[in-house]
Amino acid sequence: MGFTVAITGRPNVGKSTLFNRLLEQRKAIVDNVSGVTRDRQYGVADWNGKNFNVIDTGGFVPDSEDIFETEIRKQVKIAIEEANAVIFMTDVSTGITTLDESMAEILRRSTKPVFLVVNKVDNSERQLDATEFYSLGFDNIFFLSSMSGSGTGELLDAITELIPEEEAEAATADNELPRFAIIGQPNVGKSSLLNALVGKERTIVSDIAGTTRDTIHTHYNLFQKDFILIDTAGLRKKNKEKDDLEFYSVIRAVNAMDEADVCILVLDAEKGITAQDVNIFSLAARKGKGIVLLVNKWDLVEKSTNTARDYEKQLKEKIAPFTDVPVLFISAKEKTRIFQAMETALKVYDSRKRRIATSKLNDVMLKAVAAHHAPVVRGNSVKIKYIMQLPTAVPSFAFFTNYPDDIKTPYKNYLENQLRASFDFKGVPVRIFFRKK
Ligand code: GDP
Ligand code: GDP
Repeated sequence: MGFTVAITGRPNVGKSTLFNRLLEQRKAIVDNVSGVTRDRQYGVADWNGKNFNVIDTGGFVPDSEDIFETEIRKQVKIAIEEANAVIFMTDVSTGITTLDESMAEILRRSTKPVFLVVNKVDNSERQLDATEFYSLGFDNIFFLSSMSGSGTGELLDAITELIPEEEAEAATADNELPRFAIIGQPNVGKSSLLNALVGKERTIVSDIAGTTRDTIHTHYNLFQKDFILIDTAGLRKKNKEKDDLEFYSVIRAVNAMDEADVCILVLDAEKGITAQDVNIFSLAARKGKGIVLLVNKWDLVEKSTNTARDYEKQLKEKIAPFTDVPVLFISAKEKTRIFQAMETALKVYDSRKRRIATSKLNDVMLKAVAAHHAPVVRGNSVKIKYIMQLPTAVPSFAFFTNYPDDIKTPYKNYLENQLRASFDFKGVPVRIFFRKK
């Protein structure tokens, strides 16, 4: 179960600087599956062994002056509603502004934890100026210099204190049904797909206890297939006003993703894959979720012999480096390949759960190692002695070696490709670790 923190605040207080800093710790571990674009607005932070989603609301506010204040107020409300905690960011160099005050007023009424961050406290003089912010009336107040990073540790400590200890995901019982999240931007056809699959029989089978999310869980059991579909599509219709905000759909998608084993990312064939889709895709990969890409509204595309093949090729260029992902061309309207799409999601689910016997793994992978050894580093010949799959929810492999620090990304990629070639991990992010032996 994910925990989501939204960073709100008026422009230029330093939201994106803080955002980048919070995500920094994580980067080192996961860079091999990133492929992330520069306008990222959400990601996963990692502190003291706990993870949480961070959303920078700044990227969702349009630039236009006249609608600005109302937009910001809307964002704040959504942040309170949808996130588990809010970071309210201000700037000591400007002091408290009227916009800060009006945001503070909304936030003070919230029942969610609010962390007031006074940013740009770069020196002791500013430390003194910062005390004026106590007047905004928040108990949790942090003085930060996001630029240098000072104060971020205390903030991270306070946030992670709110996050319950992770129950080992690997412990999920076998009798639990696969969970698929149907995600994608507004109007790509998520509701149509759901209706095509389940018709009007949609029933809410579970509210996730202890959370505020209102994703809808539908128990699906047609044609001997049994799984849970998680969607956020239907909710939009009831929330027409909020529906206009991209931010809203993004935060919902991130929440749905956390509850799922496999993410079914729906795209609009005519629009192609957008930067936002690529962000969502990378986030799912970083979270170790299974992924299936559905190009919907394929009925609207004029086709010749290689249309699908060329389309898929272009799509994969955008989502690189993680391209070993199933892509299906569907039409929710004409019910083309929609059941095949679910079968594919089930297959990805099975691959993600699969445990490869150690003997088989070593058989195959030591051959791959023998065919192509790790490069010699500083005169050290790097030897991989054996390989083990770790008992984790996301397929993870430990390669035991004499020099774990001397194995670089290209060789790691080689090993991952070999794993993928020999064992079917289509749509499944895999993790590779090097351990000293
Ligand atoms: P956003 O619009 O709230 O996302 O703000 P940005 O993160 O883009 O930052 C706005 C400006 O403030 C940039 O020029 C940053 O370099 C600067 N800034 C951010 N954090 C700090 C800080 O801790 N100290 C100082 N002096 N400047 C900062
Ligand atoms: P959502 O916002 O992602 O849930 O999208 P909807 O399911 O509400 O669909 C948005 C619009 O796209 C509606 O007008 C649908 O009728 C249309 N639509 C959805 N799927 C298809 C499809 O496969 N083909 C065509 N031609 N239109 C579709």
